[in-house]
Amino acid sequence: MTASNPLLQAFDLPPYSAIRPEHVEPAIDRILADNRAAIAQTLADQADTPSWDGLVLALDELGERLGRAWSPVSHLNAVCNSPELRAAYEACLPKLSAYWTEMGQNRALCDAYKALAASPATAGFDVAQKTVLEHTLRDFHLSGIDLPEEQQKRYGEIQMRLSELTSRFSNQLLDATQAWTKHVTDESALAGLTDSARAQMAQAAQAKGLDGWLISLEFPSYYAVMTYADDRALREELYAAYCTRASDQGPNAGQFDNGPLMEQILDLRRELARLLGYPNYAELSLATKMADSGEQVLGFLRDLAARSRPFAEKDLAELRAFAAEQGCGDLQSWDVGYYSEKLRQARYSISQEQLRAYFPIDKVLGGLFAMVQRLYGIEIRELADFDSWHPDVRLFEIRENGEHVGRFFFDLYARANKRGGAWMDGARDKRRNTAGELVSPVANLVCNFTPAVGGKPALLTHDEVTTLFHEFGHGLHHLLTRIEHAGASGISGVPWDAVELPSQFMENWCWEPEGLALISGHYQTGEPLPQDLLEKMLAAKNFQSGMMMARQLEFSLFDFELHVHHGDGRGVLEVLKGIRDEVSVMQPPAYNRFPNSFSHIFAGGYAAGYYSYKWAEVLSADAFSRFEEDGVFNPVTGQAFREAILARGGSQDPMVLFVDFRGREPSIDALLRHLGLSAAA
Ligand SMILES: [Zn+2]
Repeated sequence: MTASNPLLQAFDLPPYSAIRPEHVEPAIDRILADNRAAIAQTLADQADTPSWDGLVLALDELGERLGRAWSPVSHLNAVCNSPELRAAYEACLPKLSAYWTEMGQNRALCDAYKALAASPATAGFDVAQKTVLEHTLRDFHLSGIDLPEEQQKRYGEIQMRLSELTSRFSNQLLDATQAWTKHVTDESALAGLTDSARAQMAQAAQAKGLDGWLISLEFPSYYAVMTYADDRALREELYAAYCTRASDQGPNAGQFDNGPLMEQILDLRRELARLLGYPNYAELSLATKMADSGEQVLGFLRDLAARSRPFAEKDLAELRAFAAEQGCGDLQSWDVGYYSEKLRQARYSISQEQLRAYFPIDKVLGGLFAMVQRLYGIEIRELADFDSWHPDVRLFEIRENGEHVGRFFFDLYARANKRGGAWMDGARDKRRNTAGELVSPVANLVCNFTPAVGGKPALLTHDEVTTLFHEFGHGLHHLLTRIEHAGASGISGVPWDAVELPSQFMENWCWEPEGLALISGHYQTGEPLPQDLLEKMLAAKNFQSGMMMARQLEFSLFDFELHVHHGDGRGVLEVLKGIRDEVSVMQPPAYNRFPNSFSHIFAGGYAAGYYSYKWAEVLSADAFSRFEEDGVFNPVTGQAFREAILARGGSQDPMVLFVDFRGREPSIDALLRHLGLSAAA
């Protein structure tokens, strides 16, 4: 099996097309066994005077070998899910969880790190090495190493169970999303929908051997109906199906219900926090974050809520008045997107759909690459002849001064059996290995954009362009690192509430006239975005920004309060209701089960950390304000940002990095100004 198992071979980029579900478990078993033996050997060799190379680099090497096999598997599980791969993936989760717990609770290993940290050798260590040691010792503590044996055992059980439950949460959401479709044979039902949406729905129907159109809960389809369908009953039907996914409500009530899982996940997180001496999971989550305390986070969110509330109320009042003029006197949740788009068109004579023609994918990518070349002096070129998991996938290389820097895959379009949303996954960290060679970083950038239909290139909405820039910002953070220690290179070791800084920062260039000139060009004529459209687009930038802020604060406060208060007798929906009463300007129907699809906090890394988006947005807006002062394409400022933030990864406290770039601590003013939420506005 070893000889023929691609996951056990040495490779540069993963041999995706050769990986079969039956390879997964044997490869992971083999690597875990090898690693356990290697750790024991390392400890025997390093027992007396551990060295950086002998201990840290040796352990990095083992982590890399495991990651080299596991990273492509978990990536495929997300983008090409199948029952067989899912089973193989899940069979490995408890084994991996046990392995990580065992590593985190390995007393001899911890003692070796402590001895290294206390040794005279540290005098010659750079700041990243010191941070890596400090974080490693902190993480031993957070893995329960200081607990009595009985509680250590319980810690391991909890982690194992959590990895199972969070994976199941994600699977049930994917299954629930795939389980509902609506077949339409009478085109009049699609009145109001754009040509591109109809073409995409027709394509989806054909793929299933049907005539007519197939509406699904994949985001481009859902978004198209909620924004453009004149048929109110159709919008309501789709809204109800979407916001009850994986719950006890809606058309598939009870079939994929994540409700019980959520309670179990929250119970276990609370128990874990208590084991480690924290009052609740929110406080445990802050142990590795930039924010100092729960009060600080809640104070920050409530301050933003108070400042933006009047704007949100005004947005909603205007929307209600507009909808009433159009004959809709009782605005419901399934009307908000539809009338908002109509209001945007009436007020700014601009629509997302109209802009699409100016953002063909290759123009956008070419412009994006030209921008980062100007800002950071890097070159990007597309590579051919590589192994892939889907024909749509593309691979690019970053070079600087003729030297290879790193590579990234783009998997941009929505399709069946692919998880929703957009994300960047640091598939391989930059590091110097035990042989002294530099291993270059690799990133996977995944989105769910509307695919190319009807012989046209894929045309993006401006929202999609913004998402692309966001994920690309994460990618640059991972790829442009100058740190050569795996524990602090790229996004490794960056506190979660600072990780959205480079991504949200990048979004700013989607709104700069100079930037837009680079990324836009009509897909048929090549004509740049006309001046009047550009002006309308910029004028519409902060359309409903108050309502948008209220929504994001609702998510952030709900997540944080849920992890503070879980166990006080209130259920998930009650906590959500409390937050909605406090910050939301519009209440959804009682059957809405938004938490059941909130995978950021129940299946991703954002538990008691969703506030990170807002927290880091303060940093990113303030960082961008220096570009507003110096010129948005000022290469000196670009290099300064690159060297202070992008290059230094998790090597230092993010506040230190920020102050290095900005010359002072962050202020909230730039964010409020950018969103049009300043009191004077
Ligand atoms: Zn992000």
